[in-house]
Amino acid sequence: MPTEVVAIDGPSGAGKSTVARQLAQRLGFGFLDTGAMYRAITWLFLQAGCAPAECAAEPDQGHARMRACLQQSRLELQNGRVVLNGRDVTEHLRTREVESQVSAVSALSFVRAAMRDLQRAVAQAGPVVAEGRDMGSVVFPMARWKVYLDAAPSERARRRCQDFARQGREVSEALVLEEILVRDRLDSTRSDAPLRQAADAIYIDSTGLTTESVVAQLFARVRGDEVREAL
Ligand code: C5P
Repeated sequence: MPTEVVAIDGPSGAGKSTVARQLAQRLGFGFLDTGAMYRAITWLFLQAGCAPAECAAEPDQGHARMRACLQQSRLELQNGRVVLNGRDVTEHLRTREVESQVSAVSALSFVRAAMRDLQRAVAQAGPVVAEGRDMGSVVFPMARWKVYLDAAPSERARRRCQDFARQGREVSEALVLEEILVRDRLDSTRSDAPLRQAADAIYIDSTGLTTESVVAQLFARVRGDEVREAL
């Protein structure tokens, strides 16, 4: 079980990806964006016409198609890009279509088991900053550092709107807030690996904090522990 892991969990829009990416860069660790993995599988199912909403009438048949699709696919993370069956799909992952289905896809135990194995394999190869919903609680219970990054829902909606604006899309903050709250509820009430703060995680509320200050705080903690251990 990999231990050289900074496990960062928290709800949608809490700033995990930006913090984790910058922290990984400063530490010289790998960066594991597990939300992107679930998004990629969701995109795959949408392309194949077997996403949960499309199979709602015949769930058993739908699950069989999803399993087959998953078994035939090869997901790779390469320098922050997500490559599915040899195709770079990174630009397709942050759409509202994917977001409307990703919580239903990530609630499926066969999807989670496949992603968990891949995530552990990545961390076996070297130290990583891994972000998601179940990093500290399920995938890396032995992680040396665990963080639960939170922010007020209104702040999270505002940040997501800024993300959409950068993609050239205007979406109302009220609508994004509604979608975020639905995703939070689905992610934290599913039976397999729900979003939960690990008992030994540090809690950080990033509302009103800059990314730089959160990264600096975590960097100091990780380096501080490493220095103390080396003494
Ligand atoms: O973090 P991000 O918003 O990219 O995650 C997208 C979705 O992927 C989440 O809403 C959640 O349903 C799922 N997810 C998960 N477990 C993780 C990471 C993401 O279930 N470790």
